[in-house]
Amino acid sequence: MSASPAVSSPDRWIVLKFGGTSVSRRHRWDTIGKLAKKRGDDNDARVLVVVSALSGVTNELTAIADGAVDSARRVEALAQRHREFAAELDLDVEAVLGARLSALQGLLADPRARSRTLDWQAEVLAQGELLSSTLGAAYLRAQGLDMGWMDAREWLHAVPPAPNQSEWSKRLSVNCTTAPSAEWRQRFATQPSRLLITQGFISRHQDGGTAILGRGGSDTSAAYFGALLGAKRVEIWTDVPGMFSANPKEVPDARLLTRLDYYEAQEIATTGAKVLHPRSIKPCRDAGVPMAILDTERPELPGTSIDGNAEPVPGVKAISRRNGIVLVSMESMAMWQQAGFLSDVFEVFKRHGLSVDLIGTAETNVTVSLDPSENLVNTDALAALSEDLARLCRVKIIVPCAAITLVGRGMRSLLHKLSEVWATFGQERVHMISQSSNDLNLTFVIDEADADGLLPVLHEALIDSGAMPVYEGGVFGVRWRELNGQFRPRPLPWWHDAGKRDALLRLAAKSTPTYVYDLATVRERARQLKAIAAIDQRYYAIKANSHPAILRALAEEGFGLECVSLGEIRHVLASVPGFAPSRILFTPSFAPPDEYRQAFELGVNTTIDSVEILQRWPEVFRGRRVWLRIDLGHGGGHHAKVNTGGKHSKFGLSVQRVDEFIDTARALGLTVTGLHAHMGSGIDNREHWRMMFDELAGFARRIGSVETIDIGGGLPIPYSEDDEPFDLEGYAAGLAEMKQVHPAFRIAIEPGRFLVAESGVLLADATQVIEKDGVRRVGLDAGMNALIRPALYDAWHDIANLSRLDEVRELDFGVVGPICESSDVFAQRVKLPATTAPGDVMLIADAGAYGFSMASTYNLRALPGEEVIDV
Ligand code: ADP
Ligand code: ASP
Ligand code: MG
Repeated sequence: MSASPAVSSPDRWIVLKFGGTSVSRRHRWDTIGKLAKKRGDDNDARVLVVVSALSGVTNELTAIADGAVDSARRVEALAQRHREFAAELDLDVEAVLGARLSALQGLLADPRARSRTLDWQAEVLAQGELLSSTLGAAYLRAQGLDMGWMDAREWLHAVPPAPNQSEWSKRLSVNCTTAPSAEWRQRFATQPSRLLITQGFISRHQDGGTAILGRGGSDTSAAYFGALLGAKRVEIWTDVPGMFSANPKEVPDARLLTRLDYYEAQEIATTGAKVLHPRSIKPCRDAGVPMAILDTERPELPGTSIDGNAEPVPGVKAISRRNGIVLVSMESMAMWQQAGFLSDVFEVFKRHGLSVDLIGTAETNVTVSLDPSENLVNTDALAALSEDLARLCRVKIIVPCAAITLVGRGMRSLLHKLSEVWATFGQERVHMISQSSNDLNLTFVIDEADADGLLPVLHEALIDSGAMPVYEGGVFGVRWRELNGQFRPRPLPWWHDAGKRDALLRLAAKSTPTYVYDLATVRERARQLKAIAAIDQRYYAIKANSHPAILRALAEEGFGLECVSLGEIRHVLASVPGFAPSRILFTPSFAPPDEYRQAFELGVNTTIDSVEILQRWPEVFRGRRVWLRIDLGHGGGHHAKVNTGGKHSKFGLSVQRVDEFIDTARALGLTVTGLHAHMGSGIDNREHWRMMFDELAGFARRIGSVETIDIGGGLPIPYSEDDEPFDLEGYAAGLAEMKQVHPAFRIAIEPGRFLVAESGVLLADATQVIEKDGVRRVGLDAGMNALIRPALYDAWHDIANLSRLDEVRELDFGVVGPICESSDVFAQRVKLPATTAPGDVMLIADAGAYGFSMASTYNLRALPGEEVIDV
């Protein structure tokens, strides 16, 4: 079977590394066999398979090496697990494993076990990989593959230790040589089998014993072999299909990073992305060997490629988190203007063989961090360190901390986009901020407990702010959730319908810029909300779009209309014939008192939100029925912009003053029949709704006369391809639960955007197409005066070339307007057909909410037109 390799024409090698989960199931070994064979055949190459221990085994061996009291039981359990797996692989258990298991058991009786010498610990740790590779080799041979087994210690050699290396790292976290001798090459090339399997994680110590590459080090073994063999490629096969923009198990919205250069990959790995061992990149980079990260369970997925030719793209690529970080804070008055203090303290770290990761300095304080993956930072080591440092300064050890790192090119030029990130961290106690000198990372050190749940929030903030350029198709791929079928793409918008598109083109031919609203879409959204049984009363917040046809359509669907000014009330009464004023909800903020008076006189249902207004104008309110808006003090959480509650918000009565309000109202014979709070935008978390409703219900009971609880609006719509449609079912289920808990109260809602945003498009003519310094721009006859959301909120609206809707959207364009403001930009970068030209009709999507209603005549440009399609 074995073709005898010709030493004179050196073989090309491909190295495949399979991690713990990849070697723990029989069907994955079938995949390993298939892949090894296929890679060899397709590339006319020989294949070296490097394997980890079965998953969880190294943890057990570490406990044994650390002298766990129940080591004998643990060894027996490990032996049993491997026997069972051998049986599952249909192997002769004794023949294949007998010798290996005796070696494992023998280590407990070894004289070195008593003092747990480091060389003994290394041998203990090595058993996992020796066992898994032995099982795998036997299984693959039984499947007919020409698979040779090698002891990695005969091929990987630990480099001589550095002078200050700790004894621990000299044995259990070693580096290996990457320059093969001629003899090495010769010996390797003459291995008889075409396919070879060996262990990750282990190498030969200078003294001939075993040395370990550090936890997770099998990746690095593969990289060393790749470099030594000058391999064509090193593939790291694991349980995720690549390196993601965050740990996908923690951040389901994390994106696949399809292509990275060595430096960014290195930074992501070093700062905590466990998917690749931090030391595995350099050997490949130095030898120019490309790497790939792939998923053993889903081998067809493309994964992440790492090489030296990836085009650098500025922006944050990933956030990672490292736990177990130790901070050493050193305080000394003597440090002030004192030469040599730093040198003295660092000498102590050096003496203890501890390598420092991050450093922060202040006038009288130096704080450094120690990374547990690079150092043995157990309590003994830290106590010894503290004792020595205490001779120089006051020492405080802060544990456990988490280091959260943003990685990407050009961090410095991104700082202005990180305001939401700063705001997020602003809520935690940040012990240290550190920026790497290579401009590739920015790290925050906080308490480990505070880091829980933070990564998803940060990841979203990075995307929203544009700091993480997920639209860069060359780097960012699918999100993890999408791969797992947990992403609901938004449906194709209405204007893709041929009839509607023709209607739009006809309207655009008449005049542009013009808004066009599709009433069928408005009605569809209205009916979706009507289908939610728990809701008793629905209002439409007309500030989003007050076009009469829309008001009439929603009135016909049974919606009340929510107004925020007397002007809006009058507009409703004028636009919707016969509309009962009692179906209007008036929710003003700091409006002139006369507006309240007129509203009462018209018979409009009015909301108030202060005690002062009652005290100052008692006659306006005496004997009236009103709704009360309360500020629950803790609106949407992580950013000032989305926080609708609390001291800094102008809306709502403070909960501290509810009793005072009740007393004042009672004296005026005022009856509070409704309670309202606005909860912020885009909340689809049932728990949140229930909590807010519970609180409002508590106040409602105190007030006594309340019939309706108005939970506001804030339902989101999917503006970009990356957004999912709002989870209406989840929302409905949450409301139903609330209704069960508090059946006494009617539930009211008052959405705006949800009902109308998707119904509206802004049509504009392309006026000019201009290229400047490599940037292509298409100018429209609509500007920020027609649609201000992109300029005001950095809001994303999809843009399409309606005249060329069927052409491929292949080129990036900036889309701009004619206003003399640098913020007159609808999109910095959107894909449009290459043929896009002046005269084309361009469509700005999802502009039905806060489009026309916020338009102005700035620059004395006329207001856009408005049209309605109702078919
Ligand atoms: P193996 O046993 O195959 O070496 P590891 O458990 O060492 O696998 O590494 C894979 C794990 O790395 C994934 O299951 C994932 O949870 C974790 N991980 C952490 N950060 C990232 C990231 N940025 N991208 C992908 N995976 C990550
Ligand atoms: N088995 C070792 C560990 O779990 C090495 C590896 O899997 O990469 O740390
Ligand atoms: Mg690993």
